[in-house]
Amino acid sequence: MKIEFFEHNIGETEIKRVIEVLNSLFLTTGDVVSEFEQKFSSYLGCRYTIGVTSCTAALHLSLLAYGIGKEDEVLTTPMTFIATATPILHAGATPVFVDVEPETGNIDATKIEEFINENCSFNGIKGELLNRATGKRIRAIVPVHLYGHLCDMKKIRAIANQYNLIVIEDAAHCIEGERDGVKPGQLGDTACFSFYATKNMTCGEGGAVVTNDESIAQKIRLLRLHGMTKNAADRYTKKYEHWDMEALGWKYNMDNIKAALLLNQLDLIEERWALRERLCQKYEEAFLKIQDIDSPTVLGSTKSARHLFTVWVDPGKRDAILWQLQDHGIGVAVNFRAIHLLEYFRETFGFGRGMFPIAEKIGDSTISLPTYPKLSTEQVDYTIECVRRIVPQ
Ligand SMILES: *Cc1c(COP(=O)(O)O)cnc(C)c1O
Repeated sequence: MKIEFFEHNIGETEIKRVIEVLNSLFLTTGDVVSEFEQKFSSYLGCRYTIGVTSCTAALHLSLLAYGIGKEDEVLTTPMTFIATATPILHAGATPVFVDVEPETGNIDATKIEEFINENCSFNGIKGELLNRATGKRIRAIVPVHLYGHLCDMKKIRAIANQYNLIVIEDAAHCIEGERDGVKPGQLGDTACFSFYATKNMTCGEGGAVVTNDESIAQKIRLLRLHGMTKNAADRYTKKYEHWDMEALGWKYNMDNIKAALLLNQLDLIEERWALRERLCQKYEEAFLKIQDIDSPTVLGSTKSARHLFTVWVDPGKRDAILWQLQDHGIGVAVNFRAIHLLEYFRETFGFGRGMFPIAEKIGDSTISLPTYPKLSTEQVDYTIECVRRIVPQ
């Protein structure tokens, strides 16, 4: 049997919407993007959505909109994809890693507090949190809702309020999630989403920022398209008016073709989430009794977005298990090796083994299994059977 790691859900409805756009005048940012933005806002219960070309762009623009740059530091997790940290570097700031919770792999709010207590001084009058070792200001926290399980946003928001920090959520895995009645984007200053090829909803490459802050939404809208005051639809569908360049912006605008791919997927998002929820529960039940397999915990009062299902195995055997699963035709992935151990981060910042031991352990143990609605019962049963046979050895 051959089981792909991921199969998308683009079908006739999406293709029809794309053809409509292709037959229309406007291919770039226009009314289909606006339609998607409004729909996405109402799904999440947030005021503003800005469609962009990737989650990386969404994170970059969020940081820029809050003026985060040189001489600034941003607290984040090493248990994530590199694109959580690279926008911090693109903005000119420095990522400061905090280790994760062993049960979930999410950034540990208690460790954020410990880091601040041990390394920082807070000037309440200026509202500035200073890292004493580097002399830089800590400006923001970027939590990642790993695999779709929300971080402890209530606690993270409380810490941010206490020390005057911005919270930018990397919600690349977590459109459908909820915890303690809170959805992504509701306690963060912005939340950033990915519509990359393997995400729960995809247009190949795409992303979005959501926020409840009108002036930040305006800034991000400006910065996603060169800092221009008018987009192409404004310039060519109405009486011509000159545009201005108000800021140095970027070329990150979502286009109508991408938005057309997303609309129907957003309509079906809960239906598809329910299928993944059932699948993940089946995996969980099957692996519960196997001693050599561990898995991230979905905490009480949490609805996981169920983006990835990962098993944690003996770090010494992980790669061998990975290859054996592949030999049996099962598509697997590693999400993720702790990023501070990747060459660029080691060489640029002097990171090494032992600095974030929990993230390192998860990164050395983790294997992602196929987690998408198109999987048949036979494929799921076969995957479970292979894992059962291959892991304990
Ligand atoms: C996929 C991913 C991103 C990047 O998303 P793009 O849309 O490809 O830029 C960022 N963070 C995490 C955790 C991701 O998994």
